[in-house]
Amino acid sequence: MSEISIPDTVYDVLIIGGGPAGYTAGLYAARANLKALLIEGASTVSQITVTDWIENYPGIPEGASGFEIVEKFRKQAVQFGLQVSQADCSSVEPMEWNGIRGWAVRSGEKSFEALALVVATGAHWRKLDVPGEETYTGRGVSYCATCDGPFYRNREVVVVGGGDTAVQEALFLTRFASKVTIVHRRDRLRAAAILQQRALDSGKIAFAWNAVVEEVTGGEAVTGVRLRDVRDAGKNWDLPAAGVFVFIGLIPNSDLVAGQADLADDGAILVDHQMRTSAPGIFACGDCTRKLLRQVVTACGDGATAAYAAQLYVEELKGNPYG
Ligand SMILES: Cc1cc2nc3c(=O)[nH]c(=O)nc-3n(C[C@H](O)[C@H](O)[C@H](O)COP(=O)(O)OP(=O)(O)OC[C@H]3O[C@@H](n4cnc5c(N)ncnc54)[C@H](O)[C@@H]3O)c2cc1C
Repeated sequence: MSEISIPDTVYDVLIIGGGPAGYTAGLYAARANLKALLIEGASTVSQITVTDWIENYPGIPEGASGFEIVEKFRKQAVQFGLQVSQADCSSVEPMEWNGIRGWAVRSGEKSFEALALVVATGAHWRKLDVPGEETYTGRGVSYCATCDGPFYRNREVVVVGGGDTAVQEALFLTRFASKVTIVHRRDRLRAAAILQQRALDSGKIAFAWNAVVEEVTGGEAVTGVRLRDVRDAGKNWDLPAAGVFVFIGLIPNSDLVAGQADLADDGAILVDHQMRTSAPGIFACGDCTRKLLRQVVTACGDGATAAYAAQLYVEELKGNPYG
């Protein structure tokens, strides 16, 4: 086994992101005895934290809140020795110690160094990008039903989107709102059949099909949305609503590695089957990567693969590969 000399402050693996992908990577890295630090956002949280109820994560037939699940992920990883810190990471730069290549991650004045990085920074919600959205964000426009739903007790709200999350959140909002109208640009939903059926059976959910939001309208706060028929540009109408909840897709959080690793056209980090990016020593997993299905269970699988691949990479770098 060859000897290498690197400073004690250098981690084997730095994991950036404290969601399902990051904590699963942390669990695997800690159990592999790697010197691992997970940095979770100081000003952002995992998407799962704001998810009211998860019923499709295997092994929990009774379901659980997203918050409860991520707390368990954290507890399990920490109990095997994972170190955790809170910081918003702003840049990633290459480093070298006596010919050994690694990476420095900066957050304000702080710098963390490691031989390998696992990027698990998740994604954020795509905005409508229409007049009124910015003005009324926090005053009627929301991207989180769990956070803001209770403010709309006995009031009418609009949910924009047609996928799993839009329908799931619309169902959650029926606990508070007197009526929820799902605005969708197509004539049918993309959501799972079981969710569609629940929405149809709910009695509180209405649909505005083939419609897009052109403007969020209001005075002091939101009073409604102006809709346009996608099949007839001249056909507009107003829909009154006190709240507008937007779930129209995700934008991967990849800015951090944009200068180092290759990205897809939509900004997702490109990875191979070992979760390797185009930058040697940078691995990525979960919602920040290019993938078909962005869910807790797939984020966890990616996280395990990324940590294992990072382990092999670090062992190779240190000159003690297994086998
Ligand atoms: C409303 C809603 C409902 C959902 N319902 C379900 C469901 O029922 N079932 C299901 O399986 N999935 C559901 N999902 C999807 C699921 O939550 C995600 O697929 C999953 O959380 C992705 O995990 P992740 O670890 O990749 O990213 P995230 O969970 O988003 O975690 C990203 C982490 O990265 C951190 N981070 C980001 N940028 C930085 C930075 N620069 N520096 C440091 N840290 C950073 C964040 O703080 C966070 O800790 C839902 C999502 C939403 C929003």
